[in-house]
Amino acid sequence: MCPFQTMPPRQPPGWRNFRMDASMDLISSPQALRDTCRAWSKAGLTIALVPTMGFLHDGHMSLIDEARRRGDKLVVSIFVNPTQFGPNEDLDRYPRDLPRDLALAEAHGADLVFAPEPGAMYAPDHATWVEVPELARGLCGASRPIHFRGVCTVVLKLLNLVRPDVAVFGQKDWQQLAILRRMARDLDLDAQLMGMPIHREPDGLAMSSRNVYLTPVERAKAPAIREGLLLVRAAVAAGERDAETLGRMFGAHLAQALPGARIDYASFVHPDSMEPVARMDAATLFAVAVFVGSVRLIDNILLEV
Ligand code: AMP
Repeated sequence: MCPFQTMPPRQPPGWRNFRMDASMDLISSPQALRDTCRAWSKAGLTIALVPTMGFLHDGHMSLIDEARRRGDKLVVSIFVNPTQFGPNEDLDRYPRDLPRDLALAEAHGADLVFAPEPGAMYAPDHATWVEVPELARGLCGASRPIHFRGVCTVVLKLLNLVRPDVAVFGQKDWQQLAILRRMARDLDLDAQLMGMPIHREPDGLAMSSRNVYLTPVERAKAPAIREGLLLVRAAVAAGERDAETLGRMFGAHLAQALPGARIDYASFVHPDSMEPVARMDAATLFAVAVFVGSVRLIDNILLEV
């Protein structure tokens, strides 16, 4: 039996009847999305797409605002994609609030929100997957083996349905963006993929839908992750080039400022190939994933040398 068909509905009751007073459309059918976008393209309008899993925050809004500037028509997708979650991950408890997301998307100028049910996106006998294994081996791919396969597959499906001129993503998920860019190049996709800087809370914590899971104590200490990244950047600016030494520095800072946190990875990699870097002789990405309690938070910083 198809796992996507049997999932309980996650949207609030009545969400299908949600009516927008202004001009924003809410579409749940992939075919209706394709028809609408095709009509726009035929009319000579450019389209910008922002794929999200919803529970929108200011990080998402910075992508949406940029996309608004980049296309005549703006499509925001809200889909908690089941195929990018592993069996023991947080699919079931991933936060959702469609009515609030719709209001935000509309306030920021979206023309269309696409919010499909899993069963509409994946046929019961869905069997085709897109993978970029070379870039997905390390970092998040190491601890979430099927994650990027699910991301690539759903993003390619969205790009095929919308056929946007530009699709906007966040650099918070740097590895994801690198993988999607490689997929777009290798498969001759014509959408331009844009990356936007990480949007942060005033205390430096990278905005994430998962931040709501943090207890007040964890939330108060979580900015230590960003502090650790800045510490490493300062050490690089002061001349340190050895990744192992810099990694230890990050670990020591977390142990002191965020006791109990568990580092999933703290890796120095080439920003495009995601290959590990032992010595920083060129621009290097320092990317981390840290479990704070049961919440896995990611962050990164590009180290220029
Ligand atoms: P998600 O809903 O978590 O799948 O994220 C949808 C898009 O928003 C992805 O391209 C993310 O990289 C991006 N995004 C999430 N958080 C942030 C943030 N704090 N700053 C910038 N972009 C973000």
